[in-house]
Amino acid sequence: MQVGTGTVFSFHYTLQDAEGAELESSREGEPHAALYGRRQILPGLEDAIAGKERGETFKVTLPPEKAYGVRNEESRARVPIKHLVKKPAKMQPGMMVQVNTRDGVRNATIIKVGRFNVDLDTNHPYAGNSITFDVEVTDVRAATREELAHGHAHGAGGHHH
Ligand code: ZN
Repeated sequence: MQVGTGTVFSFHYTLQDAEGAELESSREGEPHAALYGRRQILPGLEDAIAGKERGETFKVTLPPEKAYGVRNEESRARVPIKHLVKKPAKMQPGMMVQVNTRDGVRNATIIKVGRFNVDLDTNHPYAGNSITFDVEVTDVRAATREELAHGHAHGAGGHHH
């Protein structure tokens, strides 16, 4: 069975930056599962997975605008330290933190630490990078009627509810 409309696909991935350094990998956990066509993963990655079968491996490189966005130098904010989700014991520039915003929890990088506030770079940590996904399709199956109704994959690597 090929990945396409009406299927749920599972995959392992490794994320690399343009220099080939590993940024992230799913291989320590269970494969990620998604319902095809619902854009639950990056569209460029989903388009590359279309038509693949279980066991296939491939690499796809996405430019920043198709991956995590271009860097926006305006994306900076000064926020009260108490708005950080988990305040690191010793905060330093370059450290990744999570901050509560009106739009929910966001990842950010510390630029400067003050007494009560921190200056944050709120670009996605991978913004501005061409990202290469090294992908292994671990399963392709027909979506259940319930999954199609809910609009997401159930079970291992998907939604649990
Ligand atoms: Zn559901």
